[in-house]
Amino acid sequence: MSTPPLPLSSSWNGPLDARPDIGHALFSRFRIGTRLAAMMALAVLVTVVLATAGIQGLATANESLRAVHEDRMKPVRTLSQIAHLMLSNQHQLQMALAQTATQGAPSRIMLNPDLARSAAQAIEHNVIAIDRLWSLYTAGPRTPQELALSDRFASRRAHYLREAVMPALAALRSLDYQDTQRLAALVRQLYERASPDVQALIDMQFNQARAAYEAGVQRYEQTRRLAIGALLLSMAVLGFLGVMLIRSIVRPLRQVTEVFRHIADGRLDTPIHVQGKDEISTVLTELRSMQHRLAANEKAIHQLAYYDPLTDLPNRRLLRDRLQAALTASRQDDRHRAVLLLDLDNFKTINDTLGHEIGDQHLLEVAQRLRMAVHAPHSIARIGGDEFVVLMDLLSPTETEALAQAEALASQLLAAVSRPCPLAGQIYHGSASIGICLFKNHNSSIKELLKRADAAMYQAKNAGRNGHCLFNPSMQVQLETRTALETALRGAVEAGQLQLHYQAQVSATGRPVGAEVLLRWNHPVHGPVAPAEFIPIAEASGLILPIGAWVLEQACAQLATWSTQAATRHLELAVNVSARQFRHPGFVDQVCRSLQQSGANPGKLVLELTESLVLDDIADTVDKMQTLRQHGVRFALDDFGTGYSSLAQLKRLPLEHLKIDRSFVEDIVSDASDAAIVQTIIDMARNLGLNVIAEGVETPAQRQALLELQCLVFQGYLFSHPLPIARFAQWLEQHASPFVPATATPAPWATPSGEFT
Ligand code: C2E
Ligand code: MG
Ligand code: MG
Repeated sequence: MSTPPLPLSSSWNGPLDARPDIGHALFSRFRIGTRLAAMMALAVLVTVVLATAGIQGLATANESLRAVHEDRMKPVRTLSQIAHLMLSNQHQLQMALAQTATQGAPSRIMLNPDLARSAAQAIEHNVIAIDRLWSLYTAGPRTPQELALSDRFASRRAHYLREAVMPALAALRSLDYQDTQRLAALVRQLYERASPDVQALIDMQFNQARAAYEAGVQRYEQTRRLAIGALLLSMAVLGFLGVMLIRSIVRPLRQVTEVFRHIADGRLDTPIHVQGKDEISTVLTELRSMQHRLAANEKAIHQLAYYDPLTDLPNRRLLRDRLQAALTASRQDDRHRAVLLLDLDNFKTINDTLGHEIGDQHLLEVAQRLRMAVHAPHSIARIGGDEFVVLMDLLSPTETEALAQAEALASQLLAAVSRPCPLAGQIYHGSASIGICLFKNHNSSIKELLKRADAAMYQAKNAGRNGHCLFNPSMQVQLETRTALETALRGAVEAGQLQLHYQAQVSATGRPVGAEVLLRWNHPVHGPVAPAEFIPIAEASGLILPIGAWVLEQACAQLATWSTQAATRHLELAVNVSARQFRHPGFVDQVCRSLQQSGANPGKLVLELTESLVLDDIADTVDKMQTLRQHGVRFALDDFGTGYSSLAQLKRLPLEHLKIDRSFVEDIVSDASDAAIVQTIIDMARNLGLNVIAEGVETPAQRQALLELQCLVFQGYLFSHPLPIARFAQWLEQHASPFVPATATPAPWATPSGEFT
């Protein structure tokens, strides 16, 4: 059994990007605004902390470098000054020795007093400065190695002062050139002995300063590296958090986009996972409920489109899809397949007598039974009213076997339908007729298959119902004839092939009281076609609408003509109205228009309706009949006795005449039960205040029997066949006086005045 194209289902069934996402799980607890604000605050905080720490670290490192420069270079400078001052002493002595004068004894050379004084003052000043500088130096911290060295320098300097500088000062003051010269040499000698120590101290101090500087530089470097590292790390952390934040927004947004795409594609069964409580989660939750609603609606639409609302069985549309699929599949294999068209017998009776609700109940019961009898790969559908179709798939490739399979199922279906069924408090024994049509190798179309099954089903009905019938080629011929007739009928009105015949209706005295207008079709090839043959075709194809309109116009025109002559003014004209014509919304207007345009007297127009037409939609019928009745138009119930109208229903209708069906008149003489039925109809009509017309009166005996039952108006071959208007006019002329049957002796029941006894 093929399934209908279900727009709900999709090839893609996986959840929408349902991978667990820690970032999203973590972040989606908070609203997006909160997340962004938190991220910004974090970034600002980290930046401030890093900037502060970096600036401080770098400032500290810078400060320590400056301290190294200030503190550590101080002893170097002090020592260098000491060395310089010691050197300056030598220089002062040399200056003093540079200018001499001879005094006294020829060999005695004297120093220049001014220079010697100034040199002595400078040296004294230097000595004081060196002392001050040295004590400044020795006040600072010193390493043991430096201590030893400085101690040695101190003793050498003391020696230098004591042995050389002080005596030199004395010599300068005494202007003694020789002593000064000698002591200047000693000063230089002792200076040169002490100078390596001071130089070593300077080197040592310098090295220490350099080491401290390098340590400072290293610290600075470390701080810088640390700052950069911290910066990079915080950037990485912020970046990671940023990425997580973006992902926590982008991924669900992508999911939302994906959901929208799926919904737009009509894929409504995709699971939507919602995590968290943020805005996107809210959107997803809303989308999910929207998707559920859409899916439910789509399911409902699909159900409505493809399934019959009463029985839940597949409907005509779904059957067509399945038939198409079966036809396509039949190209590929040599299997037979079959269409079984099942129509309930007399279902209309249930509807008409028990009401539509009980009719629906019965249909439901039948549908249930049929559903139980049909199993995959076969399928069943309800295609209208009381019609069901079973599509049998994958039957045997051999025709006889396939037929046996189809007939076996048909028998099962008939058995299922005919099982007793409780209905409105009674047990109803229903039946059905089934038409079977086999097909294979894509040798037909859907329309053709259904038509064939339909033709076979009608054959089964004609064969007495409660049976099945296989479609055969002769039915095909009938079908084709029907199709050809339909085509021919289309052009019949314009081609003037349709004619109206008039059949007289006479009173008990034999006086013509009216006529029934009957349609005739003279086919150029086939000759006269019986109304029973072409009226159903016109009805089924809708051609009855233009044809019926034409008949009405002609009939009204005829009434108008009759109204101009005294001999025919009293005649009523009955027009047959088909169900489709009557149900058309414009029917009432059409009748009124025809009457107006022709100028006919509405009181002489009688519209003949059948029982089944009247009962089909009683409310609409009563409505239309009453409207027309108000315009003066009258109504006859045609073929009465063949339907199932109840007294209650008849009472609602504004009827004028009941026409007793020909079938009761036919055997009224020989069949007592027919006579009894006619009697009942006449009694009922009298109770309802209706006139009775007997149809199909062919013999004087029938007329006599009807007269005895108090039926006073007749129509039938005994009086006249339906005649074209010209001949009918002649007939009227001939029968202006009371009727005397041509074939019979004067009627013994006629009184001289012409009234029946
Ligand atoms: P109906 O309305 O019951 O018409 C009476 C039918 O009985 C006519 O058949 C008529 O020729 C036939 N008939 C009359 N007297 C006798 C008789 O003594 N013996 C026998 N055996 N038959 C008799 P017809 O003309 O073949 O029409 C058949 C049916 O076609 C009509 O039955 C009516 O239902 C339908 N029909 C005819 N003309 C029209 C029309 O213009 N519109 C519609 N909608 N239906 C029409
Ligand atoms: Mg009629
Ligand atoms: Mg009739």
